[in-house]
Amino acid sequence: MLTESTLDPANAVYRKVIKAGDHWSHVIKKGQTFRILDLEGNQAADTLFYNAHDPVDRYSASDTIRCQQALYLTSGSKLMSSGGNELLEITADTCGRHDTLGGACSRESNTMRYAIEKENMHACRDSFICGLHDHSDDLGKRDITCNINFFMNVPVTPEGGLTFADGISAPGRYVEMVAKMDVIALISNCPQLNNPCNAYNPTPVEAIIWD
Ligand SMILES: [Zn+2]
Repeated sequence: MLTESTLDPANAVYRKVIKAGDHWSHVIKKGQTFRILDLEGNQAADTLFYNAHDPVDRYSASDTIRCQQALYLTSGSKLMSSGGNELLEITADTCGRHDTLGGACSRESNTMRYAIEKENMHACRDSFICGLHDHSDDLGKRDITCNINFFMNVPVTPEGGLTFADGISAPGRYVEMVAKMDVIALISNCPQLNNPCNAYNPTPVEAIIWD
């Protein structure tokens, strides 16, 4: 569902452009509003959330899908944790659909999907690991779960098949959510150079936070 925000980035308390292929992590406090802005369009923002006070309690795709009885995320979606807690709720969305199923690219999946020579190319899984280490030496590879792909379009066919389709986002589209508890947000701004979903051209996104 397309819903616009009334918030003005000029009043934001935090703004950060995440460069193409880079990672970013930040604590979003309970009650703050968090926007991810697709600056140039059709960029996949692979995203994970953790309870900032207990990172074992983290975004759960299956709990989120079951809670809302729907596969895609948009305005009104509550992002649920593995412990059954509401991490954030999406309050504005000018893209209209975000993927819960496709997961993140990894060096291993790049060799499977594209070519064995792709093994050394940087991938979201590496970015997630770097972002988690920024927070704590206790967080690492085993703390990466099935992530949200904001702005990515992965339609499910009537037969239940997954298709990675052309993006439906565009320059300036955004998704916005309110934190229901203090959360660690972790984004891998996908560096993928082999997938047509971003036109083989990763581009920057912006993280914006309001009190
Ligand atoms: Zn990726």
